Amino acid sequence: MAEPKVIIGLETHVQLNTKSKLFCGCPTIGLEKPNTRVCDVCLGLPGTKPRLNKAVLEKAIAVALALNCKINKLVPWNRKSYFYPDMCKNYQITQYDMPLAYDGYLMLDFEGKKKKIRIRRIHIEEDPAKLIHVGGDITKAEYVLVDYNRSGVPLIEIVTEPDIESPQEARAYLSKLVSILEHLGVYDITNYVLKSDANVNITGTERTEVKNISGIKAVVKALSYEVTRHKNMLRRGVKPMRETRHYNPKTGLTHALRTKETEEDYGYIVDPDLSWISISSELIKQIKASLPELPDERAKRFVKDYGLNQEQANALINDKALADFYEECVKEYGEPVTIAKWIVTELLKSFNYHGITLRESNVKVSEFLELFKLMDEKIITARMAKELVKAYVDTSKSPKTLVAEQGLRRISKTEELLGVVKKVIKENAEAVKDYKSGQEKALHFLVGQVMKETKGQAEPNKVREIIKKKLLKQL
Ligand SMILES: [Zn+2]
Repeated sequence: MAEPKVIIGLETHVQLNTKSKLFCGCPTIGLEKPNTRVCDVCLGLPGTKPRLNKAVLEKAIAVALALNCKINKLVPWNRKSYFYPDMCKNYQITQYDMPLAYDGYLMLDFEGKKKKIRIRRIHIEEDPAKLIHVGGDITKAEYVLVDYNRSGVPLIEIVTEPDIESPQEARAYLSKLVSILEHLGVYDITNYVLKSDANVNITGTERTEVKNISGIKAVVKALSYEVTRHKNMLRRGVKPMRETRHYNPKTGLTHALRTKETEEDYGYIVDPDLSWISISSELIKQIKASLPELPDERAKRFVKDYGLNQEQANALINDKALADFYEECVKEYGEPVTIAKWIVTELLKSFNYHGITLRESNVKVSEFLELFKLMDEKIITARMAKELVKAYVDTSKSPKTLVAEQGLRRISKTEELLGVVKKVIKENAEAVKDYKSGQEKALHFLVGQVMKETKGQAEPNKVREIIKKKLLKQL
């Protein structure tokens, strides 16, 4: 039987980084003391009149344009009714009947191929309050406290079509999405973790929705777990029900919450307190004209101006902080191709090994550049520099400090190397014989042995030259 096809759609909530909330003037960040950044409107007191914060609309339109969406010119607000203490009005203000934007796409470079992920819709809504479970998690808490500071903070929800075909592709989609949002300057990744609802099934099973997963790594884990669960159920002949599940980041497992409620259960109505948003072509044009350089354009520029290959450019622009880091290094040091090579191969390899990003590391431009200066000054070899990148990421000690602490230096003097060469020749008579009978490969091997003995501190070309001379009895 052919491997079943994996079908994934994501609904991702992003907090827009406006100064004030969606429908009132309360600050979105600031004092963390509970219930201090609130007013009549975001507490949902009767008789208060919400008023749209125009900055939210402008940022949301910028996102819609960057994701190639069409924009509705007249958009009503809806009330999504539910009874829960995180929503003091007993309804959430959202856009249901007609979203702000629809029918867009995000272009991915995934596993060497272009892949289009269609965007079904983008809408604006308010964030609910935060519940604090005291004395345990949601199942064991003695009581619950509510902090309304978050109530009314602007969110956009970005909904894809079910075009994603693996958890890894979901990771690529979310990384690119975050990079676009960061380039637009509408989202602050250090203040707000994006949250996704993931719809997943495989051919032959019913769709399940995993709710409210925080961050990108957790989405990948939750999806991997769900794909395996669906495959196992299919194999055993059990059809998964259509249901909503919860992801536990501590165990990496998902648990059934409830059979899926339908949208009708929320009793959407148009909000009579808010006027419909009217969006002029003029405003759209204006926002479009002021869009900053986006990741794909930046990649093109890296290829054109710095001479990088497309793969290197893609790897850099996928994380805005990394692309910024790269450009700062180039500004300081020059050598754009060399720097890109070292970041994309060595630095990213170390980050991936630890499962971190540049932001989560302690790597700094000035310290990273020490590597190149140490190589330029012929204090270390390229091979040593590779080891130093690993050690730098591991220990957060700068390359210069590591070199000083470990007494590392490049060995280049013939006299210093001759001893090791003699030892290697003595211990590898077979390889020496092969080389003398014309096998060049044997020379590689001998050079490799000397590199190993010197812990990479020797220059391979120099070593090769000494071995050759030694075997010709010129030394
Ligand atoms: Zn308020």
